[in-house]
Amino acid sequence: MSYSDKEQWYRQIIMDHYNLPRNKGLVDSESYTTVHLKNPSCGDDLKIQIELVGDIITDIRYEGSGCAICCSSASMLTENVKNKSVQAAEKIISNFSLMITGQLGYDEDILGEAISLQGVAHLPPRIKCATLGYKALERLLLKSNIDDEDIQEVK
Ligand code: ZN
Repeated sequence: MSYSDKEQWYRQIIMDHYNLPRNKGLVDSESYTTVHLKNPSCGDDLKIQIELVGDIITDIRYEGSGCAICCSSASMLTENVKNKSVQAAEKIISNFSLMITGQLGYDEDILGEAISLQGVAHLPPRIKCATLGYKALERLLLKSNIDDEDIQEVK
């Protein structure tokens, strides 16, 4: 596949998730935990909700509004980590972080359709858009604080 074919194909994946979001809409249940993050520089506003049974993410939902990169990235993330272990999800998060910041050595196979966001590494202002869902999931899984001064957590 030529470079431009690949770009075209990646764009189609991104628009498909934007137009037909997967796992969208939150559930009102005590077995779920939710994190709400905002990326004020772009206006992205995202909630990620997970249900953990033991070590497995048995369900993951999202709700929010924002640019196509933010929303489609969250949609792809939910598809990729659903029914996976916490450890597998952490591996996906760290590999995505390498890819989206333009570093080498990430595993394309475990990123699933998120590989379509590869080009965002060349668009620094959009990196936070693509990463917002991952930051929220990381916060849910590791209970870690948001280590990014530009991203706000809504309590
Ligand atoms: Zn955005």
